[in-house]
Amino acid sequence: MCDVCNLDNENWKFKCGDRPLEGAKLYCVYVGKVAKLNLCRIHSIELFALGEIRFLRKYMKLAVDLNGNKKKYTFGQSSGDFGF
Ligand SMILES: [Zn+2]
Repeated sequence: MCDVCNLDNENWKFKCGDRPLEGAKLYCVYVGKVAKLNLCRIHSIELFALGEIRFLRKYMKLAVDLNGNKKKYTFGQSSGDFGF
């Protein structure tokens, strides 16, 4: 499920067919952590084209969700992974 389509209740399967989702990373959202998203092809291209900040401004629901569900987007990460 594409995270953006999911929040917008879009039928991502209809839009994207069976193409696999692409993993995307947002670096500006959390201090010291990377937010991981699953994006359909369309949103993945849009993120690339707009950049992180403008993408989040366009998809406010995503920005709000990122803010409220930090665990969901940083699952499996811990800061200091690399022993720095
Ligand atoms: Zn999407």
